[in-house]
Amino acid sequence: MAKTILILGGGAGGLVAANELRQKLNGEHKIVLIDQNDYHLFYPSLFWVLEGTRTPEQITKKLTGLAKKGIDFRQGIITKIDVIEKKVEAGALSYSYDYLIIALGARLNYDAVEGLGAENCLYALPGILDIRKRLNEFSGGKAYVVVASVPFRCPAAPYEAAMLLNYFFRQRGIRDKVDLRVFTAEDQPMAVAGPKIGASVRGMIENQGIKYQPKVRLTSVDNRSGKIFFDNGEKIDFDLLAIVPPHKAPEVAKEAGLLGDSGWVPVNPSTLETKHPGVFAIGDITGIKLPNGKALPKAGVFAHYEAKVVAERIAAEIEGKKLAPKFNGWGSCFLEVGSGKAGLAFGNFYAKPDPKVTMFPPLKFWHLIKILFEKWWFYKWF
Ligand SMILES: Cc1cc2nc3c(=O)[nH]c(=O)nc-3n(C[C@H](O)[C@H](O)[C@H](O)COP(=O)(O)OP(=O)(O)OC[C@H]3O[C@@H](n4cnc5c(N)ncnc54)[C@H](O)[C@@H]3O)c2cc1C
Repeated sequence: MAKTILILGGGAGGLVAANELRQKLNGEHKIVLIDQNDYHLFYPSLFWVLEGTRTPEQITKKLTGLAKKGIDFRQGIITKIDVIEKKVEAGALSYSYDYLIIALGARLNYDAVEGLGAENCLYALPGILDIRKRLNEFSGGKAYVVVASVPFRCPAAPYEAAMLLNYFFRQRGIRDKVDLRVFTAEDQPMAVAGPKIGASVRGMIENQGIKYQPKVRLTSVDNRSGKIFFDNGEKIDFDLLAIVPPHKAPEVAKEAGLLGDSGWVPVNPSTLETKHPGVFAIGDITGIKLPNGKALPKAGVFAHYEAKVVAERIAAEIEGKKLAPKFNGWGSCFLEVGSGKAGLAFGNFYAKPDPKVTMFPPLKFWHLIKILFEKWWFYKWF
């Protein structure tokens, strides 16, 4: 019997799941992908827009183009997920499904910090364009990268941003006029990867003269007076701000009763099944507890591999095959350090008792591999 697989979200996880399912299942089965936007944004290239080596058009692609592959893309804001009736509402339409893949990612929660708005945001295109504009007018002063709270997407990204800013200021010949710092709610960089990786990343930024202030939570931003406030009572002047806002699960998942105690969707760590039959969740919206009690980081690489596992499991079930692949917690992540170089961290995040993560030191080679990966991503999935 023909089945309908509904995929919510056309980000990293949803895009891969739709493609993989389309490849595995014949045309009688429907694959429907819904997103509020009509485009996909490749986040790993976002900071290349900040440094001016990419335009927004170069890091986005229309989801409508998936029609030629036999993926039915629908644009609409998803307002209701009903896992009992097996129905989803988006825009004015209602969609029924046999299988549901929830890949709605994490939302930026500006409201959690007084005075915080999209203009200082390091994690979305409008904020990046705004910071870029300010950078072009900046001739020196206090430039801060601030991680407001945990968890947040891509644990390496704020450190990449700080190092790319350092490189930008050096190229402009104003580095000696800039007090460049990272303030973060974390205990150390990339905490889940362990103290060795944390010390290595901290060493990288401090070697570039970037000051590191961990364990501070941002409570308020005053753009008019140019001040930021932290939970330890500190009040600090700034000239240029790049903030990683607090993250939270999309409201629609909360209203559907899908969130667990962590505030994210609990899933089986190997199969990505939720407690509802035929309903899977992948990527940033999930809360996966590792053997050491910490959470699996929110990163595209995990959304990607989880999507492949879920697509294979659904296709196998529909076709009556005895295939049961499992997500094994492996992942890797580039770390841009400026000067056209990048490092690479990789490892097994499901290892016991702690994730086993290794870091290759920064080289031009890894930066080139990241450029190739960007090209491959658009070629493979569009
Ligand atoms: C600056 C930056 C750099 C990064 N670099 C890397 C990197 O180098 N490597 C890496 O592995 N990860 C990286 N990441 C993290 C990575 O982008 C995310 O982990 C990944 O995108 C998660 O995929 P996802 O499918 O779970 O969610 P997303 O990619 O966020 O997709 C969610 C989708 O759901 C849609 N959506 C949400 N709510 C609704 C709704 N109600 N109705 C309709 N549509 C909705 C959104 O529009 C979005 O398209 C980076 C992130 C940032 C911000």
